Amino acid sequence: MTQSLTPRVEAVFWFLLTVTGYFLLASLSLHATKGADNIAAVWPPSGYFLALLILMPASARISAFAGMATASLGANLYGGAPLASCLAFTFSNGCEAALALWILRRREPDELSFMVPRSVVSFCIAALTASIVSAAIAWALTGRGTDFFLSWLTTVLLGMLIVTPPVVMLARMVGTSAMANATMRMKAEAAAILTVTGLVTILSFSQAQFPITFLPCIAVIAAAYRLGPFGAAAGMLIVTIIASLLTGQGYGPIAAIEGVQKTRVLFLQFYLLTLLFTTLPLASLLIGRQRLAKRVEQSNRWLLQAEAAALVGHWRVDLVTWTITWSDQSYRVHGLEPGAPVDVDYSVRQYVAEDRRAVRKILADAVRTGEPFEFQGRILRTDGEIRHVKSHGSIEIGRGGKAVGIFGTVQDVTETVENARILEAARSAAERVANTDMLTGLPNRRHTLAFLERALAGAREHGAPLAVAIFDIDHFKRINDTHGHATGDQVIRRVALRARAALRDEDMVGRIGGEEFVCILQRSSAQSAEIVAERVRKAVEAGTAAEDDLPDATISVGLAVYDGEADVEELLHRADKALYVAKREGRNRLRSAA
Ligand code: GH3
Ligand code: MG
Ligand code: MG
Repeated sequence: MTQSLTPRVEAVFWFLLTVTGYFLLASLSLHATKGADNIAAVWPPSGYFLALLILMPASARISAFAGMATASLGANLYGGAPLASCLAFTFSNGCEAALALWILRRREPDELSFMVPRSVVSFCIAALTASIVSAAIAWALTGRGTDFFLSWLTTVLLGMLIVTPPVVMLARMVGTSAMANATMRMKAEAAAILTVTGLVTILSFSQAQFPITFLPCIAVIAAAYRLGPFGAAAGMLIVTIIASLLTGQGYGPIAAIEGVQKTRVLFLQFYLLTLLFTTLPLASLLIGRQRLAKRVEQSNRWLLQAEAAALVGHWRVDLVTWTITWSDQSYRVHGLEPGAPVDVDYSVRQYVAEDRRAVRKILADAVRTGEPFEFQGRILRTDGEIRHVKSHGSIEIGRGGKAVGIFGTVQDVTETVENARILEAARSAAERVANTDMLTGLPNRRHTLAFLERALAGAREHGAPLAVAIFDIDHFKRINDTHGHATGDQVIRRVALRARAALRDEDMVGRIGGEEFVCILQRSSAQSAEIVAERVRKAVEAGTAAEDDLPDATISVGLAVYDGEADVEELLHRADKALYVAKREGRNRLRSAA
């Protein structure tokens, strides 16, 4: 508030503010609400001065205390008290302010906030301690009775508790942007509630016919409820001012009480203290609840943002009411507008028919066992898209050990699934290329020998028959020499196709060399292997009937039936030897190994 002022100007500013405010409030209280022993019912200057001390910079405190002393002496003298009493009162009030400030600084080293319940407690402790000390000093210095002590204590305590909070809060609201930030609606509501509080108090304390002193309590509680601590404090201040003034002037139910003035003052003080201790805790509880609600709302917002960023939604099935709740991201995963009505059956029915039964079973099992679960399935969204979704979840167990809810997350994993599918397709394509002979499309040497290796192991293990037939194109060099290498390639291709066509599905043929092939005939007896091999030879030979422009070609075949050989090489070697015999004996024929 005074940051731009030089220290000297600042000191003068706080001095004047203290002198004028303190003097006016003190004179007004003394004049309007004078109680027994020249003590007012409420002593607002104490609260006003403490508020200034809380608000002002430390450097201005000395001049403020000087201002307070001047105003206090002046007001008390003006009120007609003897000089000795005036000095005693002023000293007591000065000590009380210094003590309250010291306690506050110790308990709340940071800025004192009336919005924090702990700080409010600190403030009450400071005010009570300072009031007791102040009353004790005044009592000791003036030598009056216990009544005086109690009356002084209550007066000062009320002055601090009622005046300090609203002054501090109002000054801070003006000093910060809080006031500017408040909407017209909020300002109008605050003005209306506080005006009603004032009117109700006037109504209650201007007449003694109807005992309606409880009405201002309701108004202050309403102010606390709608406006928070500031509403409570401002409402209290309004009630105090009006009730004190009217009672002091002889109006209202308290003034009408029979008996000595002291009784009436005590009654008013008791009334105000009751009101104060009803509304202050209520206001701080309310603000605590509002803060909690704000924090919950904030963390909920963060959760939703995190879900949207991670593309993970959450859901909860209430097993008692059989209802389901989805987070916004869950709705998005399911292709629906957030907030649309959904039920448990609908959320299961979104899964495609093939997956629905599995989902139901996993959920039922989880509820039965109480174990966490995980599942992946496809959902058919209303926009017609099929998406892969993955859910993780756990079961909520109620007090009686029964499952009361299912909590889970849901994530759209379509892209991951698609990527895995593409990767798998690429991998198997690469594998096919690595295993295939490019010219003929048959399995290549590596793949054929690996297959034979497995077939041999199978035959050895299960005692199943196995035969291999090696065949080689006859006089192929000549074809190459006469027709060229490219035509030679075409001949190799044609031989491969015919051989493949002549074999059964369970047989395998692969190209193991330039114009050399191996047929692997599994679960074939020696006899049927011979028939199949012969069929292959004939199929190649039959092609010579010139259905294309390629030169004729025949093959020689060497057949070997597995006979307990140690390895593939040995078996192939026997077949190779039979092939050699076939070549030697004139080619275009089949020979079996001995
Ligand atoms: P035989 O009846 O004794 O088998 O006589 P051959 O002329 O066929 O002799 P051999 O099997 O030893 O000859 C193989 C020839 O095949 C040698 C090579 O030039 C040729 N050759 C090997 N691979 C290819 C190929 O991929 N394409 C072509 N066009 N020729 C090949
Ligand atoms: Mg050869
Ligand atoms: Mg050959």
